Amino acid sequence: MSLKTERISEFPFPKLDADLRKGNFEEVQLPYTLEEAMEEASRCVTCGNPVCMDVCPLQTDIRGMCEAVSRGDLATAYHRIRETNPLLGTTARCCPQLDSLCEAACVIGTRGQPVASGMIQRFVADWERTASRQPDPVKRQATGKRVAVVGGGPAGLAAAELLTRYGHGVTIFEELPTLGGTAWYGIPDYHLSKDVLKYESERILGMGVGARTGVRIGRDVPLDELRSEYDAVLVATGAKDVSKFDTPGSDLTGVYDGYQFLEDVFVNGVGAYLRQPKYDLGKSVLVIGGGDSALDCARTALRLTQGSVTIVYRRTEAEMPVDEILVEEGKEEGLQLKFLMAPKAYVGTSGRLRKATMAVMKLGEVDSSGRRSPVPTGETVDLECDSVIIAIGRGPSTFLQKKAGIGTGPKGGIVVDGRFMTSMPGVFAAGDVVTGESLVVKAAAAGREAAQSVHEYLLGAQAGHRSLYDYYFTRRTSGRYYRDMMDGKEEVLPPD
Ligand SMILES: Cc1cc2nc3c(=O)[nH]c(=O)nc-3n(C[C@H](O)[C@H](O)[C@H](O)COP(=O)(O)OP(=O)(O)OC[C@H]3O[C@@H](n4cnc5c(N)ncnc54)[C@H](O)[C@@H]3O)c2cc1C
Repeated sequence: MSLKTERISEFPFPKLDADLRKGNFEEVQLPYTLEEAMEEASRCVTCGNPVCMDVCPLQTDIRGMCEAVSRGDLATAYHRIRETNPLLGTTARCCPQLDSLCEAACVIGTRGQPVASGMIQRFVADWERTASRQPDPVKRQATGKRVAVVGGGPAGLAAAELLTRYGHGVTIFEELPTLGGTAWYGIPDYHLSKDVLKYESERILGMGVGARTGVRIGRDVPLDELRSEYDAVLVATGAKDVSKFDTPGSDLTGVYDGYQFLEDVFVNGVGAYLRQPKYDLGKSVLVIGGGDSALDCARTALRLTQGSVTIVYRRTEAEMPVDEILVEEGKEEGLQLKFLMAPKAYVGTSGRLRKATMAVMKLGEVDSSGRRSPVPTGETVDLECDSVIIAIGRGPSTFLQKKAGIGTGPKGGIVVDGRFMTSMPGVFAAGDVVTGESLVVKAAAAGREAAQSVHEYLLGAQAGHRSLYDYYFTRRTSGRYYRDMMDGKEEVLPPD
């Protein structure tokens, strides 16, 4: 029996059987067939006012994609998405479409299942990657300007792609060995196959973007030096500073930082990790936290241990800031959850963790996050465990701004003006290093917006109208564009 063909749920969300997910990192969501993609796309009513596109941070042309896929015209569908989204297979897989984005906004959803635009986009991206390579978007004449992008995550990659389309020479500097940022080393392969992200990063490099990996700006090369060598610098260093955990016993063997755990498992490819595992998780694993990262740590641990994995969260399931679909998938895989408990101490013998003493909580008033707050009851409970993985949140990476003296906000993120410029002239910033941890699609959108500002900074009046950027983000959503598209008219890009 092939892993790929075992479907447990019917169209429109085919999934790999939970038993077949054990011990491997195969993607949980299975792809549509062409017939399924066409059938699903034909459910789109191609609204005159497509709310799905409005809510997409990249304003992906979902309407145009569905219209083309419903006719079986995959090349047109691909180019419609690719215009504004160079990470189309990646975002198709890891956007929470149904939770808060395009599918949540789909008008069909008011009467039944919304159109599964993520699955359709995934089908189109996979078709292009595996069956019919399409040409890259056209690049403009070289401007002679050079831009350094610091950080090769979604924000840096998307910015580099747009800047290179504008004819600028772009080099990405990345401290890790691989491009992709948190999407590479944070998002597990069962959710996002790294073949997809690797392909999309390589396509961006193939457009002429340079990359220097293994270089930490601020340590290996000072920011000043980079600024003097390049006409502009864009900082997209993400959110890697882990919230401090000072629970007594945190230094015991068996107590792990969840973000480091994920990075260690995925940074060189999960295959390499499985050949040479670094963590001995034991038979009973507790994961502390209630967000996406905790869930990713837990489902990764489930695939690495024969034992039990339990998420321990200080509020209840209703307050978990996660996509419900992913929690359900975790439960199908055997994930256990315990609520209203917060760690008070980790207790060990001979330096090795043995149990966690948890403070029992109850729900109190609604706090600034809009959720009911956890309040200690004064009681405690001991949970036997072999390892604890802690994933309780991260803030913006602060290393570079501290080192270079870039202006920051209260949480250490870089402060930018309306044009994404930092306190240092010619140095721009975008993505999670500005906003704190968000989503791949939001970071990519911020990267593109910042790239547009860099372009205008470099060319001044010559940049003229907001051109490509405005064309895709404003004109394309208009009724006129839509009618032309339905009449089969080829769109004409704005002049240089
Ligand atoms: C565990 C986890 C799971 C997630 N799951 C999802 C998901 O399912 N869906 C989703 O949409 N989002 C998810 N996210 C969030 C998403 O990954 C991020 O919002 C997104 O990657 C941010 O993009 P970015 O480019 O701003 O930063 P990053 O992706 O963090 O990239 C920043 C890059 O800069 C590099 N860097 C940092 N400092 C330097 C320096 N000084 N010099 C050179 N390079 C440097 C870093 O190594 C990194 O590669 C998840 C995040 C985590 C932690």
